[in-house]
Amino acid sequence: MQKKCITIRPTSFDPCESSGGSAPIENADAGEEFSLTKFIKREEIKSDRPELGTARIVVSGGRGMQNGDNFKLITAIADKLNAAIGASRAAVDAGYISNDHQVGQTGKVVVPDLYIAVGISGAIQHLAGMKESKVIVAINKDGEAPIFSVADYGLEADLFEALPQFLEELNKLNTIQK
Ligand SMILES: Cc1cc2nc3c(=O)[nH]c(=O)nc-3n(C[C@H](O)[C@H](O)[C@H](O)COP(=O)(O)OP(=O)(O)OC[C@H]3O[C@@H](n4cnc5c(N)ncnc54)[C@H](O)[C@@H]3O)c2cc1C
Repeated sequence: MQKKCITIRPTSFDPCESSGGSAPIENADAGEEFSLTKFIKREEIKSDRPELGTARIVVSGGRGMQNGDNFKLITAIADKLNAAIGASRAAVDAGYISNDHQVGQTGKVVVPDLYIAVGISGAIQHLAGMKESKVIVAINKDGEAPIFSVADYGLEADLFEALPQFLEELNKLNTIQK
């Protein structure tokens, strides 16, 4: 029997109609028992925040954040938008944030409705993990940064000025639906 392994990124697809379709539910036989492998345990990281791989909005920080403490700026915006927090590998390698936040070729591949890249240059390995996002916003003080070539909206600015202003505007809105 031919075996297939299929993985699906749910956010790559539009949600299906809640009525009108027909998809029969069938029980699948689990097949023969595995003699060489056994289930030991499932470890899940519980968080109030949406999971990076399935979040509708992702706010990511890069080396431009300068240190882990400055990620508070990202966290505050992510809280307002009910977003997941991502990071570039440079930010992870520098110890600003743990590696389960890494987006890219050797991190997670994300396809949110909105991806906000802050202080991230847009190296090809990072783009591999987020370029399919539906809307990409980049904040970078270098107007030549490659991230701007994939961004739908680009803000050439110092993130330490732009993020507090962004947060102030979000605080005024206060109507974001969770
Ligand atoms: C095999 C391999 C696999 C890799 N896998 C990944 C991966 O999965 N994910 C990944 O991200 N990378 C990966 N990388 C690393 C990748 O090549 C880049 O080095 C990395 O993405 C750079 O991260 P960065 O954009 O945060 O840092 P940088 O390239 O240093 O960019 C920092 C940016 O911040 C901007 N900036 C600085 N200060 C400010 C400020 N005050 N305000 C606004 N902007 C500012 C700068 O203008 C710059 O554009 C991989 C590399 C290799 C070789």
